[in-house]
Amino acid sequence: MQKFITTSAQETQHLAETFAKKLSGGTIVLLYGDLGAGKTTFTQGLAKGLGVEKRIISPTFVIIRTYVVRNRESKFFYHVDLYRLEKESEIEGTGLLDIIKQENAIVVIEWPEKLGSYLPKKRWEVKFTPLGEDKREITVEKL
Ligand code: ADP
Ligand code: MG
Repeated sequence: MQKFITTSAQETQHLAETFAKKLSGGTIVLLYGDLGAGKTTFTQGLAKGLGVEKRIISPTFVIIRTYVVRNRESKFFYHVDLYRLEKESEIEGTGLLDIIKQENAIVVIEWPEKLGSYLPKKRWEVKFTPLGEDKREITVEKL
């Protein structure tokens, strides 16, 4: 497990940008942390590192947003936010189960606690702990 401390949103985005370079298609990245911890901020940096040109906005109301990845073998980047999901069984209607099987996709999931029994075995876990207004502890682990 790797542990980082960042002291600004930009620093968290840079960290994510570097992390993105290590990822290949068929990768699932789970982002754990409370509201405001930095999950979406990290996702913005990750998307930049992948070469996603569109601006990343929080998918809270649609659950899943799809982006096209340029210049890489992974063709799609999916940003998933399960915050509004009320029960595990609703996952079946979102298309997520097909998405996480795609070999050319990189999938980032906020609020992965909601996956319940759908938690993928192979995954990266990134955990955000606020240590102050602009300070975050970020741990990265590959499972
Ligand atoms: P989440 O998606 O976890 O709810 P967001 O990324 O939407 O959180 O919000 C994080 C907020 O905290 C943003 O307003 C961001 O600018 C701010 N922030 C301050 N310091 C940091 C930091 N070190 N890392 C990430 N975000 C930070
Ligand atoms: Mg968010």
